[in-house]
Amino acid sequence: MRAMVLRAVGDLAAANVGTPAPGPDEVLVRVTNSAICGTDLKIFTGAIPVGYPLIRGHEMSGEVVAEYDGDRLKRGDRVVVDPVLYCGDCFNCRAGQTNLCPNGALVGRDANGGFADYVVVPRTHVFRLPETIDPRTAPAIQVLTTCVHAQRRAPIFPAQSVVVVGLGVTGQLHAQLAKARGAYPVIGITRSAWKRKLAEELGADITLPAGADAIRCVIEATGGRGPDVVIETTGVVRSIADAMTMARLGGTLLLFGITTAAEGALPFYQFYFKELNVMNARAAKGEDFPDSIDLVARGVVKLLPLVTHVMPVSELAPAIDMLKTDIDGRMKIILEHR
Ligand SMILES: [Zn+2]
Ligand SMILES: [Zn+2]
Repeated sequence: MRAMVLRAVGDLAAANVGTPAPGPDEVLVRVTNSAICGTDLKIFTGAIPVGYPLIRGHEMSGEVVAEYDGDRLKRGDRVVVDPVLYCGDCFNCRAGQTNLCPNGALVGRDANGGFADYVVVPRTHVFRLPETIDPRTAPAIQVLTTCVHAQRRAPIFPAQSVVVVGLGVTGQLHAQLAKARGAYPVIGITRSAWKRKLAEELGADITLPAGADAIRCVIEATGGRGPDVVIETTGVVRSIADAMTMARLGGTLLLFGITTAAEGALPFYQFYFKELNVMNARAAKGEDFPDSIDLVARGVVKLLPLVTHVMPVSELAPAIDMLKTDIDGRMKIILEHR
């Protein structure tokens, strides 16, 4: 099969490789669409260390290739892949925390992934897609599952105020989910005017440019109290500090952005004084896939407006390049496989 193989840091090449053979509890999927995100860029640049050679790609959808007797899968079924592998046997798996499995792996990082004609995954890790879901949006369902998983952890009641810091793909999804849960107002914060406009089109009640004035405006827009819930999607220490500063007394801080900083200044006294509920979220669980698929199928969460580029998978290298800078008009990049 054809695959985009990462041979070393920054060394990507199209190659012919053996088609993977599914084991007894596995399924062979012909990949039709995949997507890239910051994780792919970090693997490409070596910021996330991996073993070489590696076929990356953890956001993917495709078609089941063979019949699986007595199984729920038929040849030609359209599926989205859950890339979070787990052992099923450890303490965390038995506690239902499969996303935290210490023996776990991510397809496309620790195992060959979706930037290829075919991928093999456990049968438990494919979820059927209804006809109504546009193939150009299907790989982004994996991203939505991480947001759904995160919001499961944070209570949001109708009429509660929610601030989303950062309006990249996950910020846009969090804002849509918060609206779907009845939050009001949902306030989005980002430097980019283009992203603010997009968030408003997708239902955000208020958007604000990032900066010193944003905190004051948020507090004003939430009756002087500060928001009930702040969802931080950038992972930048400064933004986390701002999120702590704006949250109301007794409010909730949902740390969603991946933070790699080893140090930095946070307003720890506010953390104590406000009795903040702080939680974070990592990856997603199988339970998040059916719900995410349903939210997209019913149009509650809109993915298509987030897809700004559709490119052939052979252009993976230039697509990855596009992630290196924050460009107006670039949100989700979807790759098409033929
Ligand atoms: Zn991703
Ligand atoms: Zn486990």
